[in-house]
Amino acid sequence: MTSDLTIELAPSQSPRSAEERARLLQDPGFGQVFTDHMVTAHYAADRGWYDARLGPYAPLTLDPATSALHYGQAIFEGLKAYHQPDGGVALFRPDQNAARFQRSARRLAMAPLPQGLFLDSVRELVRADRDWVPTAPGESLYLRPLQFATDPFLGVRPGKEYLFLLFASPAANYFPGGVRPVSVWLSTEFTRAAPGGTGEAKCAGNYAASLVAQAQAAEQGCDQVVWLDAIEHKYVEEMGGMNLYFVYSDGRLVTPALTGTLLPGVTRDSILTLARDMGLDAVEGRISTEEWEQGVADGTICEVFACGTAAVVTPVGEVKHAHGSFTVTDNEPGAVTLKVRESLLGIQQGTAPDPHGWMTRV
Ligand SMILES: *Cc1c(COP(=O)(O)O)cnc(C)c1O
Repeated sequence: MTSDLTIELAPSQSPRSAEERARLLQDPGFGQVFTDHMVTAHYAADRGWYDARLGPYAPLTLDPATSALHYGQAIFEGLKAYHQPDGGVALFRPDQNAARFQRSARRLAMAPLPQGLFLDSVRELVRADRDWVPTAPGESLYLRPLQFATDPFLGVRPGKEYLFLLFASPAANYFPGGVRPVSVWLSTEFTRAAPGGTGEAKCAGNYAASLVAQAQAAEQGCDQVVWLDAIEHKYVEEMGGMNLYFVYSDGRLVTPALTGTLLPGVTRDSILTLARDMGLDAVEGRISTEEWEQGVADGTICEVFACGTAAVVTPVGEVKHAHGSFTVTDNEPGAVTLKVRESLLGIQQGTAPDPHGWMTRV
């Protein structure tokens, strides 16, 4: 799908040298090195979307009254471009991110960006910065689209003006020393999302609201927080900014159902399909923390993993809560977890067939 609005190409006159880029790509980490370009597009209620442009990556100038800074009308996405064995570059299911970006916008009463413009922006940015796509296994170019209200106005109402931005950041292999399980804290004090709230939207405020719980998990010596339902503090929803899967000894693979308080991950959705391809009985369900602890104790739950764009698939090892702790899979990555991880990465990195047509060449 292409959009009516064409993106004006005004590439940087001073991109970094090949030497400088090579130095930055040696150890990019995550989210701290940015490429030479970005895409911007504007919206005004009386004009629609206009002035889409690819230009140099640069700071913004904002009015102090910028509405999003006060009232949080701000959304984002996260997707990756992968180096392919033939030297090309491909995106993983960008249409899914374009669609979710629109859903997030609608939930926050923002003007949705046309999906064609989202996809054209991603394509043009990756083309302009294709030399920034890292080539080692497990590495990728992380793409960050965002949109926020720019009205310089202190009244609380939906914006009449929005800015769309897209920029890119090379990302290192998440597990350079091999896949290691994370430890998690089951938070019964804080919740991420409540029925009727914004849990399904990728909006900035959700992440601000999660930080104290993450800090509490760290105080408990845990890597990540596990979110429980907001009403009974009993049912497992997500882990940090990732979805969860439970591997049962009877061959079932269960992920918490999308009740409206979970973020519908593209990785989660892809694994439902992939696992079925692998002959596993992948289903959506409801898992309480008691069932989790009991299932690990009696062997019916043999592996737990989290999934999301940034880390793809991450095993969960130690689980701590207010009354004790337990350990899944002897704190080792489980066989099903590793198999799911490898088959997803194989498709993304172009080393395995892509039977569902998930990859989009740039
Ligand atoms: C982005 C996100 C995910 C994972 O979504 P993907 O599309 O798989 O990257 C899961 N949970 C939360 C809260 C998120 O923000």
